[in-house]
Parts: sequence; structure tokens; C-alpha cells
Amino acid sequence: MARVALVTGGQRGIGAAISETLQKAGRKVVANYAGNDAAAQAFTESTGIPCYKFNVADYEQCAAAVKKIEAEVGPIEILVNNAGITRDATMKRLNRQMWDDVIDTNLGSCYNLCKLVWDGMNERKFGRIVNIGSINGQAGQYGQVNYAAAKSGIHGFTKALAQEGARIGITVNAVAPGYVDTEMVRAVPPDVLEKIVARIPRGRLGKAEDIARGVAFLTADENDFITGSTLSINGGQHMY
Ligand code: NDP
Repeated sequence: MARVALVTGGQRGIGAAISETLQKAGRKVVANYAGNDAAAQAFTESTGIPCYKFNVADYEQCAAAVKKIEAEVGPIEILVNNAGITRDATMKRLNRQMWDDVIDTNLGSCYNLCKLVWDGMNERKFGRIVNIGSINGQAGQYGQVNYAAAKSGIHGFTKALAQEGARIGITVNAVAPGYVDTEMVRAVPPDVLEKIVARIPRGRLGKAEDIARGVAFLTADENDFITGSTLSINGGQHMY
């Protein structure tokens, strides 16, 4: 039986590539999204992957969605916490709402969904969880106090939860992408982006597929000895 994989934010950007790569690896993939119905419909039409709309920052919505997915598709054995947002501003302009939105969506979502699939994974003695961090959670970034805090939190969360899952057969890892060519990065002003690319040893932005391959590797059934790790996929940028 194909294992069910839930990919949050899984119908566009990096998440879409993760969903499609896991599908090609034989997983029964379910994608989540927040509100972009057009992207979700187009994605389902082209891939056959069903999309479930719910806010990953909201525990009650996550609980209802997990219940529905497990009833309609099957128990979630692979969870990819990929959904994320940016609300960039320097401390001078960063307000409490921008802080809360980013922490709740990027980090709170990891708690919500891990909490909701954890008991089932424990019972079945199998689970693969990958949380999508960021190079900016590892190194910090000007104007991203909220985002860097959330992503850095994901790296700590991953290492702590991995310790709880290790003896049970649940691996918990993180992937830390560098700059990847998606809508999130297209929002960066061109002159700033040019400077960023100049600092990437590989000399280009990442592709969503570069990240997806890492997630497929970490979630493979046979990969049960890698846990609590962060896989940096950034064209060598983490060395600078
Ligand atoms: P995009 O902005 O292209 O896509 C974001 C996805 O997350 C969309 O599917 C969106 O749904 C979903 N989403 C956002 N908020 C919520 C929410 N509250 N509930 C449910 N779904 C939500 O992002 P990327 O593909 O660029 O990024 C994916 C992940 O990778 C993020 O965690 C990001 O922080 C991380 N990352 C990205 C990098 C990059 O360079 N792009 C670099 C490092 C890390 P909808 O379409 O409905 O809005």
C-alpha cells in the first residue's frame, strides 16, 4: 500500500515540486494550501493530487483537516511542513502582527501538524517528518527577524522531536533551502536579488526540484538512520 504523504503549501512553489517528486516516488500525496484556489485547481488537474484548503497556523482547522484526510485517503505516514510566508521589515517597522503571522504560520504549523499525526505514527511505529527551514534561519538575514526566528526555531524543533521519535521508527529532519526561484523570492527587489546570487558559489538560484529531491531522499522508507539532521541545499552559500 502506498504511504500517504501530506505536503503543506504543496500546490505551488517548492511544495508543488515536493508533492510531484513524492508522487513519482510512489507516495499517495495530499497537498494543502491556504487560499489560492486557482493554483490548487490547476495543480490537481495536472497531477491528480488532491488539495485540501486549511490554515496551518490554526490548530482547530488542522485537526479537522487531518481527520478528513485520514478518513478519505488514509493515515498520514509522511509529513512535510513546507507552508511558509514572509512579512519582512526591519525592527523599526516590524509590528506585532507581522511577528505573530510569521511565527504562527512557519513554526506554529510544525507543532500543529506534528502533534496531530504523532500518535498515529507512534502506533504504526513508522513516520517520516521533514520540516522546511531556511538558510536565513541558520545565518539570520537583515530585515527578517521574524522569519529567521521562525526558521531557526524549526531547526531546534526538528532536533528535539527527532530524539522522541528515534526509538519508535519516526525520523524528523529539516531541509534548509537557500534562495529558490519561486514567487517568495521573486518578491525580493531585483538589485537585492542580484547581490544575493553573486554570493551563491553555484552561481544561480535554486530550483524547486533541487529541494524536492532532498525531501524525497529523507522520506524514503529505507532512510531510517538519518534523523535530527538538517540538509542544506543552497548551491554552497552556507559556506560564506
Ligand atoms: P511560496 O510563497 O511560493 O508558496 C507558499 C505556499 O505555502 C503556498 O502553497 C501557500 O498557499 C502556502 N501557505 C502559506 N501560508 C499558509 C497557511 N497559513 N496555511 C496553509 N498554507 C499556507 O513559497 P516557497 O515555495 O518559496 O516556499 C516554501 C517553503 O520554503 C517556505 O516554508 C519557505 O519559507 C521555504 N523557503 C523558501 C525559500 C525560497 O527561496 N523560495 C528559501 C528558503 C526557505 P497558497 O498558494 O494558497 O497561498
